[in-house]
Amino acid sequence: MSEEKSEVSEFINKYFSYCYQNDQDIIAFQNKIDKAIHAYLDSEKISSDVLLENLTQHFVNSDIPTQPASLDSYMDFINGILLPNIVNVCKPSYLGHMTSMIPVFYQYLGQLITQLNMNVVKTETSKALTLLERQSIAMLHRLVFQYPESFYQKCIQDQKTNMGLIVSGGTMANITALWIARNNALKEDSGFRGVQAEGMQKALKHYGYHDAVIIGSGLMHYSMEKLASLLGLGLENIIKIKLNESGAIDADELRKTVVHCKESKKLVIAIIGIAGTTETGKVDDLQSMAKIAKEYNIHFHVDAAWGCPILFSDKHKDILKGIESADTAIVCGHKQLYLPQGISVVLCKNPEQIDSIKFATRYQARKESFDLGKHSPEGSRPAFSLFLHAGLSLIGKKGYEYLIDEGIRKAAYLADLIKNNDAFELIEEPQTNIVVYRFIPEELREKCKKGMLTFEDNYVINSINEVLQDEQFHQGRTFISRSILRQTSYGDMDIVILRAVISNPMATEKEIEELLQDQMEIGRYILTKRQFSFPEVIKLLYQQTSSYYRQ
Ligand SMILES: *Cc1c(COP(=O)(O)O)cnc(C)c1O
Repeated sequence: MSEEKSEVSEFINKYFSYCYQNDQDIIAFQNKIDKAIHAYLDSEKISSDVLLENLTQHFVNSDIPTQPASLDSYMDFINGILLPNIVNVCKPSYLGHMTSMIPVFYQYLGQLITQLNMNVVKTETSKALTLLERQSIAMLHRLVFQYPESFYQKCIQDQKTNMGLIVSGGTMANITALWIARNNALKEDSGFRGVQAEGMQKALKHYGYHDAVIIGSGLMHYSMEKLASLLGLGLENIIKIKLNESGAIDADELRKTVVHCKESKKLVIAIIGIAGTTETGKVDDLQSMAKIAKEYNIHFHVDAAWGCPILFSDKHKDILKGIESADTAIVCGHKQLYLPQGISVVLCKNPEQIDSIKFATRYQARKESFDLGKHSPEGSRPAFSLFLHAGLSLIGKKGYEYLIDEGIRKAAYLADLIKNNDAFELIEEPQTNIVVYRFIPEELREKCKKGMLTFEDNYVINSINEVLQDEQFHQGRTFISRSILRQTSYGDMDIVILRAVISNPMATEKEIEELLQDQMEIGRYILTKRQFSFPEVIKLLYQQTSSYYRQ
């Protein structure tokens, strides 16, 4: 054996060896990772001020290294290039997205899942983990649908049924739920083998429809567009109902639209209720929607990716009333269940529904088995249900209740600060823990207070808020996200909003106050330090953007 080859085999053996835990290199590597995590969590800024364009130079080599490398050299890359330039979403001043600090114990559970490398696609690669996954799904099913104990006793480990599925994210969960809805709406009957077998065209023809649609509000998550495309609907077949004054779906409009679809022979595959819209945190009137769905025999899906854990709160759970009537509902573990990224759950009120997406093969996902791969849209999957089970067990109902209540309380605190500060305008009273508002430049504050802002004024304010949010990310002391709302008190004009998501338990009133302070400073900075006087800014901004914001 040549020297080089033997070095390689030594390396390979070393890193596949059972004794690795006593290996000095591995111990050193583990310590360095621990240190790097701590240093990173304590870092002053949310991210470096290196522009993404300038970062690309470190990520342009596509040649796979020929020789194995040392852990040390890889650590140099992690510490030198990677970590300084990622985004510290755990920082309490990072209040911009639905991702924040998670409990430390997940690190070690993650180690277990990763190193033992189980695969929950089939019981032959998971065994007890399959049962654990079913149990975890049942726990959430019970939270949402509250069937009696006897139901859960019967179904929880009955291999013929499944109360839901674990998938890798909310998008996948929505896709799966609507896939179930579509297959159930166009299922087999005499002379027809079902949409799964015969496809959309024949299915619609068989049932006498011209077309198929899904209906929800204009604030539906964009995963609806992905699934419409996947399920053979097309984006134009997503019907978006306007919002009422409170920012939720207009139920009267919904009813009218459903009736119209029925009359024009369009199949409504599902009505989509949102329990916590991504942009505003608003919850639709799920009770009214459930009633309409029931009346017209339509699948009712509730996208509770964000809001489902509000059910833990005695104080706030009533805003989700109606979710128990959903045919399917989803929840993201990595959002308000505070789990690591990569786990979401689809729940089926009636476990039999799930059979509409059943697939079996000879070597796995066998028909008469517990194999989770039978129903899952995904195949091989990590045992992340351990995260879910651990979260529910270790944090418990009371723990989640506290987290939810605190988020909503602090969001109300932020909304109050905004209402008492002329430099900002609250766009909508927060119903949960997402606050939407915007910065108002000094010159327009009087007009804003009097409700006299013109289209042109709003146009300028839009642009300033865009620049402000970019600059805030760049400066990296505090962070919130931004979006555009199509429907606000300003009518049909697009309004650029700043969006604070208050879910990090480590964020206190202090961080919330500092957020507004920081934004006021940045507002001043962009309007003065860049040496524009206000009328010039307006002129400049007008030139930059055309009629983008006018519908
Ligand atoms: C986040 C979210 C989703 C999608 O979740 P991902 O995990 O990002 O795929 C779907 N619906 C709503 C309302 C969400 O907030």
